Amino acid sequence: MKPLSQLPLAAARSIRVVLTDIDDTVTTEGLLTAKAYGALEELHRAGFIVIPVTGRPAGWCDHIARMWPVDAVVGENGAFYFRYDRQRKKMQQHFWASPEELKQNRIRLDAIEKEVLATVPGSALASDQAYRLADLAVDFCEDVPALPETEVDRIVAIFEKAGAQAKVSSIHVNGWFGAYNKLSMAKTLLADVFGMDWEQAKNAVVYAGDSPNDEPMFEAFPLSVGVANIQALAHRLTHKPAYITENHSGDGFAELASLLLKAKG
Ligand SMILES: [Mg+2]
Repeated sequence: MKPLSQLPLAAARSIRVVLTDIDDTVTTEGLLTAKAYGALEELHRAGFIVIPVTGRPAGWCDHIARMWPVDAVVGENGAFYFRYDRQRKKMQQHFWASPEELKQNRIRLDAIEKEVLATVPGSALASDQAYRLADLAVDFCEDVPALPETEVDRIVAIFEKAGAQAKVSSIHVNGWFGAYNKLSMAKTLLADVFGMDWEQAKNAVVYAGDSPNDEPMFEAFPLSVGVANIQALAHRLTHKPAYITENHSGDGFAELASLLLKAKG
């Protein structure tokens, strides 16, 4: 991971799309600061396509797509994208799974939930679970005292034993049934809505993140950026981001935004 300050100006100038994780990348210790939100807004106003790509639930994503200065949002680790058309006043929703598949998957996720809560003391259902449509989020650090990594690994193992995918963010283990992740749904969104194929996307996108659940994005996008706090989780990453910011969390995101805005002139 090279310091972000070493990003060549020409590479910064080629960026048209900012994909970003939210938790601990845009937010700072659980808060959306004015500085980080302002960075999103300035990017959006300057004409960048701004798309949060998050593990957060559908209920939150409805709000984000509708009210934040963004062009669309990918939620629940790639289960869907939402895009609000402000002119036509229409919320466009695209899900990886059909409504029937979502219903069947929920039955299997409910069984995993029971097993995790019964066998991993100190874990809890994430407070935002009620607003999720496709995944199960187990809290190990947000509203419960932080669990040791060995316990986080046990939660992941329970998901995987049941044939589900599981990804670890900075606060939750998210698990789901289906061959999707943040990357596959981001690709679908860029193609469907913004008419960008993979070759175009590869060179026009910057991705910012902080955790192992961002890894498919770090691997895929040559221009990927970790905010400084990723250092603490770097040992869990096979694919690290190309660049790292000097500042943590939301301040790190603002650092990236100001570099992009400067490059754009
Ligand atoms: Mg994060």
